[in-house]
Amino acid sequence: MPLPRRLNAVRLGAVRLGAVRLGAVRLGAVRLGAVRLGAVKYGGPREPTPVRPQQPPTSTPRMTTRTAFAIAAHPDDIEFMMAGTLLHLKSAGFEIHYMNLANGCCGSTERDAATTAMIRRGEAIRAAASIGAVFHESICNDLEIFYDLANLRRLTSIVREVAPEIVLTHSPVDYMEDHTNACRLAVTAAFARGMPNFQVDPPRNAVRQAVTVYHAQPYSNHDPLRRLVEPDFFVDVGDMVETKVAMLACHASQKQWLDESQGIDAYLQALRDSDAEVGRMSGAFRYAEGWRRHLHLGFCSAAAAPLETALSDRIVARRARDGGEGPSFP
Ligand SMILES: [Zn+2]
Repeated sequence: MPLPRRLNAVRLGAVRLGAVRLGAVRLGAVRLGAVRLGAVKYGGPREPTPVRPQQPPTSTPRMTTRTAFAIAAHPDDIEFMMAGTLLHLKSAGFEIHYMNLANGCCGSTERDAATTAMIRRGEAIRAAASIGAVFHESICNDLEIFYDLANLRRLTSIVREVAPEIVLTHSPVDYMEDHTNACRLAVTAAFARGMPNFQVDPPRNAVRQAVTVYHAQPYSNHDPLRRLVEPDFFVDVGDMVETKVAMLACHASQKQWLDESQGIDAYLQALRDSDAEVGRMSGAFRYAEGWRRHLHLGFCSAAAAPLETALSDRIVARRARDGGEGPSFP
């Protein structure tokens, strides 16, 4: 397999290649240039983000590859709430990208944070590779997804590298702050993609690519005040749900933990149950993922609806379900 073009950009001094389980992943799907493990510290204070000399304030031309970028908080969030739609977009010709902002280090009561993060990184790499997604490294620890400058500089740099046409991320309000903050960071990183005077880490030129942001359902389909959240539209994931389950099964440490506490296969069944619940909300599909499109201002044209357009034969709008005037998108 030829090496990815971006391997030329790898800063080997910052990459702990020994931590990459090369035998277990499709290396071609991992952009090593995104690896910055040296920036993640376990249990200690975060390093400040240095403001480095930036490249001249120019923008790179619009990219021709259509890309969709799923940005979530923790390992397994994409699997639960976004992966079916991501897979459909791949089938529709999009290059798909996968990133968990936090490394999953708090996902164990038995192992220390560094060990847990290392295990969960390997699981997430395998999950992304299982669907042919480009994996991007996490940038912080669990419960440290703060809407702060260091995280914003790092995420914006990655968004500029990917130059997505579609960003999939969490609900603007979700059951825990990591999810809510991940959403805020993703939205602002997408907003700042084309602002050359905003310095990013590592430095990358701004991009002009229009981007449309979509919000997944909050966990449990409710906001923190227990109010039901209904999506604008539903994507049929009936033919993708077992692929999602197989992807989720890559997170073996979480499956083991939850199976021991909640019963065999509780972890995997929770995904089926979640998609079935959204499917019932759709009134049309057995299994579904739900989405709301972000306001276009600062991101794309008012008419832009790339997800709805690409997957038009797999979507039902909430208004149509309720007997209204039908979908408001092309
Ligand atoms: Zn999460």
